[in-house]
Amino acid sequence: MVLASALHFAQAVLSSAGRVALVAGTVALAAGTAPASAQTAAKELFGRVPLPSVEKPASHGFYSKGCIAGAVAIPVDGPTWQAMRLERNRRWGHPKLIALLERLSRDAVQDGWPGLLLGDISQPRGGPMLSGHASHQVGLDADIWLTPMPDRRLSREERANLSATSLLKKDSLEVDPKKWTDAHGRLLRRAASYDEVQRIFIHPGIKKKMCDLYGGSRANDVWMNKLRPYYGHHYHFHVRVFCPDDSPNCKPQQSTGSGNGCGKSLAWWFTDEPWAPADPKPGTKPAKPRVVTLNDLPKSCAVVLGDRAPADESLVTFTAGYDPQLARATAVAVKAPTVPKNNVPIIVPIPAVKPKGAG
Ligand SMILES: [Zn+2]
Repeated sequence: MVLASALHFAQAVLSSAGRVALVAGTVALAAGTAPASAQTAAKELFGRVPLPSVEKPASHGFYSKGCIAGAVAIPVDGPTWQAMRLERNRRWGHPKLIALLERLSRDAVQDGWPGLLLGDISQPRGGPMLSGHASHQVGLDADIWLTPMPDRRLSREERANLSATSLLKKDSLEVDPKKWTDAHGRLLRRAASYDEVQRIFIHPGIKKKMCDLYGGSRANDVWMNKLRPYYGHHYHFHVRVFCPDDSPNCKPQQSTGSGNGCGKSLAWWFTDEPWAPADPKPGTKPAKPRVVTLNDLPKSCAVVLGDRAPADESLVTFTAGYDPQLARATAVAVKAPTVPKNNVPIIVPIPAVKPKGAG
């Protein structure tokens, strides 16, 4: 496709009735920023929206290709959790997920885990991110650190800079017994026990440890099955919940099947195959990375991007006083998304073939 000085674009605009419409047209580049174009990487748009839409909560699309309307933020601090990496503004999710995280944090304390350190959930309107994560796009994924919460409130700087600790022995696929505690096992068991949870991504070494501890009893199969071995995930685990009932446009992920997942499929992770570098066939060029644009996402995501925003973040923070109707009644229009001028689209590499699922 040829890039001309005038680009075709789809821009969210507000009609006099306050409804969002998509219009096609051409644009001359303004100083500093430019409206979104059909070529704009979707992450440039979703990665810059500071607040969610105030429409009814709904997840649109798939975990790795979608967005969310009506997301709420988990408070920065709760009695049994602290949110980390606040500067990323990824504390947003479907109210069902946020409620579940708060519940898990309380249950975890009962189990002897001192509280949750929360990593990334989603951006205010979900969608692709400027850095990290293929998934976390529909407000139904959350990362939880495998580091216990300290018994004091962390400063903003500490939340930005503190490192999580890996549970593995250095250069090994094995859990380090000096770092592992019984409370880690109870935390993972608890997280996997909720009906709302579709799966949990965890490092194969940690799955192995859980199998050693709990795999002997068939009674544990249902929750053990939800612990899915995957790359990374030895500093944190990743909780994914099912598509909620209010989201007909949410695309469910395939069932994880039956059994505890401690057998052959786990053993495969301890062979060389999953860790071997991708070996392109001689004479073939590697697949060209492609920019994910708004057109690649469900159509409703363009509407979500242009929908009204709450007047203030506190109105959409998930506390006891959270009132979605008030947030809606006082909502404000948002400006059409703009991206830095002359921005070079950030390329999304298409990963080599990997086992099903996403980190
Ligand atoms: Zn994750």
